[in-house]
Amino acid sequence: MAENTVDTVSTTPATPLTLLGLGAMGAALAEAWLTAGHPLTVWNRTAARAEPLAARGAAVAATVAEAVAANRLLVVCLLDDASVAEALDGVDLTGKDVVNLVTSTPGQARARAAWVTGRGARYLDGGIMAVPPMIGVPAAGPYVFYSGSRELFEEHRTVLAAPADTRYVGADAGFAALHDVALLSAMYGMFAGVAHAYALIRDEDVAPSALAPLLGSWLTAMTGSVAATAAQLEAGDYTLGVVSDLAMQVAGTPTFLRTAEEQGVSPELLTPYFALMRRRLEADRANGAEDLTGVIDLLRR
Ligand code: NDP
Repeated sequence: MAENTVDTVSTTPATPLTLLGLGAMGAALAEAWLTAGHPLTVWNRTAARAEPLAARGAAVAATVAEAVAANRLLVVCLLDDASVAEALDGVDLTGKDVVNLVTSTPGQARARAAWVTGRGARYLDGGIMAVPPMIGVPAAGPYVFYSGSRELFEEHRTVLAAPADTRYVGADAGFAALHDVALLSAMYGMFAGVAHAYALIRDEDVAPSALAPLLGSWLTAMTGSVAATAAQLEAGDYTLGVVSDLAMQVAGTPTFLRTAEEQGVSPELLTPYFALMRRRLEADRANGAEDLTGVIDLLRR
């Protein structure tokens, strides 16, 4: 009977929030919050970008001050740290919960945290590990690193989780940016290696699409080195579980450089890393029994 039916559909409490910035990422976030049923106030420098969201029920503020005043929770997704300073200049932040999703450096995030908390607000920094099409699509695996006020994070974690999963990484406001940039830096190293690999085969009778699955699975197989390196760093022993030692790998580098030359490819993406490997070995021949982990020590200034 209908009156005895238990409603098992879980509903999340709607939290009103304000979003500044409707670029590619901001617009995707806005869509996700509207879809999840959170009352949303938006502001964008170019007002026309708010129109599709207004049609979906978002309130559109004419000024930053008006947008900030509308809700306690304020999410910022502008281009960079300078645009945040410009947009929030002179705006009353007293009692607000500011979540800054702008990509920044750890130092910029810490300075912005001090700037915001000095104006009477709580501060949470975020580093988005997703591109806009992944936002609001849990199966795509989007998430955001958060750091700063734990209280703010706990209080708003449900609404923050609507566009992407949440990972709180510490009270230090710079830690979200630190994690974000560390992951993306590793990604660029991988992209550099992939670029070199494709350059090697470019003028040969090897289709890029034939190399692609081989390259992808080889890189995946090599990701075991990520955890192995962490274990060596934490043990302070770079010879722990070594499979291919530094001496052997340095001895192999001329093959890579000669192949690049034979193929008419610049070795410029490989040479800086090879130079560090050689420097570590030359500093002490005993380092030859190590893994590549000693390179990390050479990078630290
Ligand atoms: P877009 O270039 O698409 O949008 C930039 C936004 O910033 C627009 O809303 C723009 O307004 C606004 N803006 C720029 N300068 C100012 C200013 N001086 N004052 C006020 N508003 C300003 O960038 P995204 O939306 O893609 O990126 C936003 C943030 O998200 C960035 O920090 C980015 O690094 C980060 N991010 C983006 C990802 C992506 O793949 N797109 C992935 C992960 C993080 P207007 O419309 O008027 O130009």
